[in-house]
Amino acid sequence: MSEPSPIKSLKSLREAEEQCTRCPLYKHATQAVPGEGPARARIMMVGEQPGDQEDKQGKPFVGPAGGVLAKALEDAGIERNSVFVTNAVKHFKFEARGKRRLHKRPNAYEIDRCHWWLDLERRLVRPDIVVALGATAIRSVCGRPLTINKVRGHIMSLPDGGRMLATIHPSYILRIEDDADKRAQYKRFVADLKVCAKALAEAA
Ligand code: SF4
Repeated sequence: MSEPSPIKSLKSLREAEEQCTRCPLYKHATQAVPGEGPARARIMMVGEQPGDQEDKQGKPFVGPAGGVLAKALEDAGIERNSVFVTNAVKHFKFEARGKRRLHKRPNAYEIDRCHWWLDLERRLVRPDIVVALGATAIRSVCGRPLTINKVRGHIMSLPDGGRMLATIHPSYILRIEDDADKRAQYKRFVADLKVCAKALAEAA
């Protein structure tokens, strides 16, 4: 987070992201999906990339995973509207299967190219804590891959002076078929978010 940037507002950032051609993902997506939330949010939640619904609506976390996130935030005592939500990669990557568009995980090149925008978002919002949801977000925020289970659930210091809490992406919970496992993983996700709420309360 060192290079000076000509982008001084979230509005300018949104406009610049929409023009982005830094990696090939802009070619097939409907639009770039910028981050959204209070300009001075204390928490920034970073997901992987927009899904099908997010791509169509141009808003982050409005699909099924966003529903899980909203409920988990409520259960953790964090107001959803107080959080800035965004993604490590701003364009939807998918594989077309007939009329369906199946999510494809962004590769390291795409994550690293799109890190430029996440970096600018962090500089503008200056959150107290960045919550990295899943492996892609962790890689983008930290600048290198880390194993989720080794880092999740506690506050880590970042080289640029920021703080991060790593946890799973809520879409992981949606994919679990076993009900008991699903409930257990959801509970653990909420517990991770409570660590974030506690750290903020202590810093207030
Ligand atoms: S995914 Fe990111 S880097 Fe790639 S074109 Fe979209 S905004 Fe640019």
